[in-house]
Amino acid sequence: MHNLTLQKMGLNYVYLPFPIRPDQLEDMLKAMRVLNLCGLNVTIPFKEMILKYLDQLSPLARDCGAVNVVKNDNGKLVGYNTDGLGFIASLQERGIPLKGRALFIGAGGAARAVAWALATNGISHLDFLDRDEARAREMAERLINRSYSAASHPMSRQSFADLSRQADFIINATPVGMFPGVNAAPVDNLDGVLEHCVICDLIYHPIRTLLLKMGEQKGLRTVSGVSMFVHQGALTLELWTGRKPPLDYMREVVLDALER
Ligand code: NAP
Repeated sequence: MHNLTLQKMGLNYVYLPFPIRPDQLEDMLKAMRVLNLCGLNVTIPFKEMILKYLDQLSPLARDCGAVNVVKNDNGKLVGYNTDGLGFIASLQERGIPLKGRALFIGAGGAARAVAWALATNGISHLDFLDRDEARAREMAERLINRSYSAASHPMSRQSFADLSRQADFIINATPVGMFPGVNAAPVDNLDGVLEHCVICDLIYHPIRTLLLKMGEQKGLRTVSGVSMFVHQGALTLELWTGRKPPLDYMREVVLDALER
């Protein structure tokens, strides 16, 4: 996505993978300064551990405690988080109003970024379900401390049934349903879900997960993780290059690759 888009924009950049071990992270960032790399994306397990090595954080990255983008600003390394903002943009492009209650299935790194972005963009209450209840509790407590209303619950059929009846957004933030396990969904059914509830999946491969198909069968609005993926990528390229990338082209490139 990035290389084709950079070519399309006529920019002389290249996006490369650098597989490193966790104990090499600090050296990698030193190398970034020495080699004058303009930016980096980081993924699991680096999103949280990178914070202490950076010179500055965007307010969202600081508050949610996770970074997925680094920009090299003349030797000063600045951390950003575009995952959550990418998710917000994926709702905004569909004209979906950001208000009400969000129910998260899963409380990992992606849930964290999306939850902070939602909490600071109009959502009034967030519920987290996780099979590891302590993980969900930690997430909810961090949000409560920042004066948003949030609660944690153990993942069970009953707790999902109770909470999903009040939710305006249901968000799958687990890998359940991701390729190749495409016949799985994180919940058995969407019975009792409000008519206007939006079913979101952060998974982008496949484009339409079983959970989204379950939502469509009930006539609910659904949002695939593909939009979040494309938007976070576009926000990232803009941070690095200072230019707005062609969003439709990026989406086309991603959909083409996923469909193939
Ligand atoms: P993560 O930090 O490992 O968190 C995964 C969460 O899912 C944890 O809460 C984990 O629970 C839970 N989980 C894992 N396997 C489960 C299972 N079999 N049943 C129930 N819960 C399970 O991963 P992440 O980075 O947040 O990623 C989560 C999903 O978001 C992935 O599918 C990833 O591809 C997607 N994502 C999409 C985008 C995008 O741009 N669209 C960006 C980032 C991530 P435990 O705590 O019990 O392990």
